[in-house]
Amino acid sequence: MTPAAIAVIRPAALRNNLEVVRHAAPGCRVLAVVKANAYGHGLVAVAQILADADGYAVARLEEARQLRDAGISRRIVLLGGCVDADEVAEADRLGLDLVIHDLDQVSLLEANPSPAPPDLWLKVDTGMGRLGIEPGALGAARDRLGRWLAGRGRLRLMTHLASADVADDAATAGQLARFALLGRDWRDDVSVANSAAILQWPASRLCAAGTSGHCDWVRPGLMLYGVSPLPGRFAATLGLQPAMSFETRLIAVRNLPAGRCVGYGGAWRAARDSVIGVAAAGYADGYPWHVPAQTEVLVNGQRAPVVGRVSMDMLSIDLTDLPRPRPGDRVVLWGERLPVEEVAARAGTIPYELLAGMSPRVVRQLEA
Ligand SMILES: *Cc1c(COP(=O)(O)O)cnc(C)c1O
Repeated sequence: MTPAAIAVIRPAALRNNLEVVRHAAPGCRVLAVVKANAYGHGLVAVAQILADADGYAVARLEEARQLRDAGISRRIVLLGGCVDADEVAEADRLGLDLVIHDLDQVSLLEANPSPAPPDLWLKVDTGMGRLGIEPGALGAARDRLGRWLAGRGRLRLMTHLASADVADDAATAGQLARFALLGRDWRDDVSVANSAAILQWPASRLCAAGTSGHCDWVRPGLMLYGVSPLPGRFAATLGLQPAMSFETRLIAVRNLPAGRCVGYGGAWRAARDSVIGVAAAGYADGYPWHVPAQTEVLVNGQRAPVVGRVSMDMLSIDLTDLPRPRPGDRVVLWGERLPVEEVAARAGTIPYELLAGMSPRVVRQLEA
């Protein structure tokens, strides 16, 4: 028995996409970003498949704990860092690298000396305006953390770009220039690039002296999952392969005469005698409620439009132009030949939100 809604995960695609990263950022080490359940793909499974990455980045302690519980011993960087002594102790127990983005976190570490300090990633705000130490406070933070580490853990420097998805953007150029200055005398590794920067900011190569490209460590997320981070650029043209196929099946196929309405609010009315399929997935699975008419799905590999409002567990599809659809037929909501980028654009959102918002009730299955 197949579950009603599944996400088929393709290990070969994930490995291919990691190769695309390595090719675009030669000589760099790769922190695979697996936060938010590996962008909906399944945290532990993805980490195991991407065993060739040089480490993983997660947003939360719980995510790191799941990886360790699954026996993953490789480097894990906690992007959000810790806010209290309990979290520092737990991170220490799990053997995590910590991002330090605030002077309060420096004080927190000073109050909690560690016999075996982890590697630290000091995050400087070069213009993102979210997490990060002010450039003016960087020197003091570095000295204090250097004393705390006492020559045992390493002290890396990182920053995050706000608009790397915009080509030739002055803000990104400014962030890179600021980081290059701040990192000029940095003795240890540095890290800047997310997916978009890896693909279209080779200038992030120049930001650390003596490194071969994109600084020493790159931090790809979205592109690992085969999704384009660049608006208007298709994943396939970047060599990326979608790692997920979000699928369900038809549970009803009905003939409705012209004039009949479909779904809540009667939001769609048949203009002709129609064949309407009901598929077993809805917004409770993570398919957006907000899709406009004419958003398409694949039924038996053929495109067909969603009609009426998406419900919690179901959505309706106009199958009038398809040959002999039947209950049980396969419906692909996004995946190969129907990029999640396309569905996101229709729904007025970004692929990140659709993927990260996929419900735990969607069963993740690894493709053999
Ligand atoms: C999420 C995240 C990334 C990955 O971003 P993508 O756009 O998915 O490649 C990299 N670095 C940091 C600090 C992040 O929070």
